Amino acid sequence: MASRTKEDRCSFCGRPASEVPFIIHGALPGAPASICSDCVEQAWEILEAQYGKGKGATASRQAPEFGDIPTPHEIKAHLDRFVIGQDDAKKHLSVAVYNHYKRIRHDAEDTDEVEIEKSNIIMVGPTGTGKTLLARSIAKLLEVPFTIVDATVFTEAGYVGEDVESILSRLLQAADFDVKRAEQGIVFIDEIDKIARKGDSPSITRDVSGEGVQQGMLKLLEGSIVNVPPKGGRKHPDQDYVHVDTRNILFICGGAFDGIEQKIAQRLNTHTVGFDSVQHTRHIVPENLLKYVEPADLKSFGLIPEIIGRLPVLTHLSPLDSTALRNILTEPKNAIVKQYARLFELDGKTLVFDDEALDYVVEKAVEFKLGARGLRSIVETIMTDAMFDAPSLDEKTFTVTRDYAQKQFERHTA
Ligand code: ADP
Repeated sequence: MASRTKEDRCSFCGRPASEVPFIIHGALPGAPASICSDCVEQAWEILEAQYGKGKGATASRQAPEFGDIPTPHEIKAHLDRFVIGQDDAKKHLSVAVYNHYKRIRHDAEDTDEVEIEKSNIIMVGPTGTGKTLLARSIAKLLEVPFTIVDATVFTEAGYVGEDVESILSRLLQAADFDVKRAEQGIVFIDEIDKIARKGDSPSITRDVSGEGVQQGMLKLLEGSIVNVPPKGGRKHPDQDYVHVDTRNILFICGGAFDGIEQKIAQRLNTHTVGFDSVQHTRHIVPENLLKYVEPADLKSFGLIPEIIGRLPVLTHLSPLDSTALRNILTEPKNAIVKQYARLFELDGKTLVFDDEALDYVVEKAVEFKLGARGLRSIVETIMTDAMFDAPSLDEKTFTVTRDYAQKQFERHTA
């Protein structure tokens, strides 16, 4: 699109190509328009005057304008379309995300008398209950750069593994290397529990994968300018770094925190009131213990207090029971059953799952303790032959009965 020939003229200043450094041509056939690089620079300055320094060209791609930010109710309603249950986490996320963007706008307007603190989030809940799905669904709604990283790949600087800064390299990639956009993005750090320090007391020997990584991560969470190797991986003295300000990046952390229930139980049952302590010991329903998670439990688990302090929104996800699993199969916008039905529809066929067949899938997921993560692989196993045969069959409707599901599953897993 950009070339330099003698006849070309800038449609804005009228100068010929020979008098300007560079000409860019428009792509509209029949209405040729060109702009020279001097006029582009001038346009940039006008935008900067309008939106503030450094924001010219990216102003229109920044976080949603305040008026555009969906309300917490709207955010939750959006999450409800994709994620079953987990109301507590949805509410906390909706409010935190709403406040996060309000805070960015507040900063941008330069009227800040009261500084609003960043509201990074930590979600505690068993694996496969929707932590990643929630974070992903939020990012989809807000159309901001989003990346998922696994805390287990990071090690303390100087050791084999990735530096924590590479978290931001991935966010930069997700933002097509537009630093301004990346600086307002969302990072989901999965398996944060795996970098807990091993003992309850600060380590004397080096804890390469635990406390050291937490210290490194702290720098990102608390909001600072970080030197980021654009291609990720290990930092290298000869490399050019991109400077990324993490002040406005929203960090959402998730972890299963296996065994944290015991820490919660311990805390609750020693948490007594008054003199007659035995009578006032709180009785907690064991399966609901996660509901009572508090920062103190994260500390007992091995997260350092500084990290906990930088993750002020703490919420939990509940284990999924059979009813939730059953709903996950059919209810969400991209529910597994809907996806298979769509695949059949594209072949001009109708796929019907009997209720009892769906019950069978849920029973198997519960039996194998696979949670929601297992639903897809079970349905895939059941559907393999059907998907192989259906396109060649004359019948317009394919019905999966419980009997069919059971036979297929047992045949492929025997
Ligand atoms: P984790 O909690 O380990 O991050 P994920 O969010 O990755 O779990 O969930 C794994 C898969 O299970 C998702 O892709 C999604 O299809 C399904 N899933 C898990 N929980 C839910 C839920 N509450 N509602 C709908 N689907 C879910």
